[in-house]
Order: sequence, then C-alpha cells, then structure tokens
Amino acid sequence: MMGGNNDWRLTNQEKFLKGSILVRKRYVKPREDWDHDHCVFCWAKFMEDERSDALNEGYVTSDGRHWICLTCFHDFHESFEWKVELRRQEEHQ
Ligand SMILES: [Zn+2]
Repeated sequence: MMGGNNDWRLTNQEKFLKGSILVRKRYVKPREDWDHDHCVFCWAKFMEDERSDALNEGYVTSDGRHWICLTCFHDFHESFEWKVELRRQEEHQ
C-alpha cells in the first residue's frame, strides 16, 4: 500500500513535532562550540554564517531544539498541523 506518508524525509518526526508551535527566524548558533543544526526532515544544514552555503533561516520549535527548513515546512505543515507563532519582525531588510 502506498500512502501519503512515504516521503523519504519522514522518519517518525510526528512523535515530537505533531501540532508543535514553530517560530520562523534566523539561525543563531546556540553555543560557541555548536555552530550548526540540521533540518529534522531533509538534513539541510543551518548556519549563522551567511557566507556559507548553509541555510540562514528556517522554522524552529519554541524550545529551540528542532529546526525545519522552508521547503520541508511547506511540504509538511498541513499533515503535522503546526502553528506558527507570529513575532514582530525586528530585523531590518
Ligand atoms: Zn528540510
């Protein structure tokens, strides 16, 4: 049986991500010795360094533990029923 959940990126993330509240923001490294994270779906890399070819922005859970890239957010937000917390955008363009 082929269902709608056979995407290679899906590895039971619903256990910790179903219905989560997400915030869209720029990636900021959590610690001096921890400079990147990966999208929990496709493993795209997030880094603070804009000169790198990694992503600089994405969606993160409110506890800051899980990052989701914009593509995966677009693909999965309906099935995971995420709520996006709106925060005033304080950065200048
Ligand atoms: Zn992704």
